[in-house]
Amino acid sequence: MTTLLRSGHRAQHRVVLLGGGYVTLHAYAGLMRHAGRSVRSGAVQVVVISADDAHSFHGFTGEVLAGLLPYDRTRTPLAQAMPHAHVVVGRAVAIDAERRVVRYEQDGETGVRVLDYDDLVVGTGGREPASTVPGLAEHGFTLRAPGDIEVLADRVREAASLRGRRRHAVVVAGGGMAGVEMAAAVADLGGAHIRVELVHAGDELLPELCDSQPRLVDRAAHELKRLGVRVRLGVRLTSVSADHAYLSDGTCLPADTVIATIGQRPVQVPGLDAHRDPRGRLVTRPDLSVDDHVWAAGDAACVAHPTRGEPVPANALWAIKGGDHVGRNLARSMRGRSTRAFAYRGLGQAASFGFGRSISELYGIPFTGWLAWTLRVTFFLRFMPSRRKAAQVVGDLARVARRGRVPNPAVAPAPVTVADVTRSRTA
Ligand SMILES: Cc1cc2nc3c(=O)[nH]c(=O)nc-3n(C[C@H](O)[C@H](O)[C@H](O)COP(=O)(O)OP(=O)(O)OC[C@H]3O[C@@H](n4cnc5c(N)ncnc54)[C@H](O)[C@@H]3O)c2cc1C
Repeated sequence: MTTLLRSGHRAQHRVVLLGGGYVTLHAYAGLMRHAGRSVRSGAVQVVVISADDAHSFHGFTGEVLAGLLPYDRTRTPLAQAMPHAHVVVGRAVAIDAERRVVRYEQDGETGVRVLDYDDLVVGTGGREPASTVPGLAEHGFTLRAPGDIEVLADRVREAASLRGRRRHAVVVAGGGMAGVEMAAAVADLGGAHIRVELVHAGDELLPELCDSQPRLVDRAAHELKRLGVRVRLGVRLTSVSADHAYLSDGTCLPADTVIATIGQRPVQVPGLDAHRDPRGRLVTRPDLSVDDHVWAAGDAACVAHPTRGEPVPANALWAIKGGDHVGRNLARSMRGRSTRAFAYRGLGQAASFGFGRSISELYGIPFTGWLAWTLRVTFFLRFMPSRRKAAQVVGDLARVARRGRVPNPAVAPAPVTVADVTRSRTA
């Protein structure tokens, strides 16, 4: 392995990838496709600095919480996914674009290290803005930081297996795709033992779909009702205590577990400040460069849609396609060729409500039920970073199809209860 020290042996060209998510994996894949020989020969060195040592495949988080898939299936070690990269587990703490160096803290070591780069790709993603809701960071659960999902999955599974007289109360804040899926998954697993309330600030669930696909939004509301999830629209989560969630209409809900899916803020590594939009995202040029020799994509970036001009959505598909494009442009620029503008136009979106139940939108065409579920799973399998894990997921789901879902013997089957979709207004 080539040394990373500035004074040591230095590859002709060093590409540093910040983050271990979709952008990084796909920038690496794009680079390997178009300049793999140079990477393998050592002429180009790829260094990944990531706060997490594995890639998290968020798409199957609902299946993990619902007990349909083991948590491990969604995790692929970075060293395995990017065998020709040098992976450093740690946090980037500053970027100096003028001197082309990144400063980082390596896990298990003291002090700040310095690494110079020829090209830098920022794929540090986003985190829930937990500090905006008092008590949330201390008492609630988020989903994006390393380890978040494992801790939450353990908590939910334990709650579902407890056969106390009182139902475990879960409040999910945020009625976008992630919130709707998490509420459905917890209700699906918990059945009679967990009560789930979904709190959403907007007037309708799924703001991503409510204008273009109102029937899919209705279907999502129906699925939540089937699972016994109570939905409160037009209210915000204002604070959280050890056992309650407080809402903007004055309601105080008993809450053993609060799950926050309240959007995300980009992770900002200090530096490049002149290139950020008001939300802190790195504004990219058409070829996804931010500045000379700095590139960005995914949730940390503000990428303009090639035809509509508005920022593309912060989801995995756009991070994947953005990462791929960066990898390809990196290869072109290293060869002295002109870079290409990002021209991807999108595909669709999907949410799951348990085994065999989904809503999907593909090129504007709505799908529901088994077909939607199959489309969604097929698409996710295609983009899983590990073929082995994808095959294991197929095996897991086939087992669920054969034997039914038995994630935890102590859990009773989910009852179909009547839930009110309550339109709650600020008093
Ligand atoms: C629960 C959940 C479910 C989702 N479901 C879907 C779905 O079904 N479909 C879909 O399209 N999208 C989904 N998303 C959104 C999708 O996961 C994100 O849009 C996508 O992960 C963004 O990719 P990214 O590469 O920009 O960031 P990420 O994948 O979040 O990766 C960021 C990486 O940067 C690392 N990092 C952060 N700070 C630093 C630092 N200072 N130094 C070094 N490394 C750092 C992180 O540890 C992580 O490895 C979901 C998200 C969540 C949370």
